[in-house]
Amino acid sequence: MSELDELYQEIVMDHNRKPRNFRRLDGANHMADGFNPFCGDEVKLFLIIENETVKDVSFQGSGCAISRASVSMMTDVIKGKTVEETEHLFDLFQGLLTSAEEETIDTSSLGDLEVLAGVSEFPTRVKCATLSWHTLRGAIRGEERISTE
Ligand code: ZN
Repeated sequence: MSELDELYQEIVMDHNRKPRNFRRLDGANHMADGFNPFCGDEVKLFLIIENETVKDVSFQGSGCAISRASVSMMTDVIKGKTVEETEHLFDLFQGLLTSAEEETIDTSSLGDLEVLAGVSEFPTRVKCATLSWHTLRGAIRGEERISTE
């Protein structure tokens, strides 16, 4: 097992054991339910968006280790960001998971999410990793139910 694999395992497991922002959010003004029927992942996202900025975010739901770690990491990363910045981060993250290996992507703004780059080797798991982001975009746009299908 390479060092990156070990780091990946450690960080993913840490987010599963202690998910960040795992709760209901009182006063949320944006909410959405995301489903990934390919794996059975479910995520409910709560957001408080004021002045085009994510003031607070939380989630509930159940799913595989990758989907849970991804949404936990995402809530950490997007808090305090503008809506426009979250769109940019989504693009970056999606690029990281679907790009060819030789492509270089500046991942410094992605925080722990960077370790999920390894998921790109497993195309069926990419939906697990991006479910949280699709749900976020849906919540921002006022869609209540999002499916990766
Ligand atoms: Zn999954």
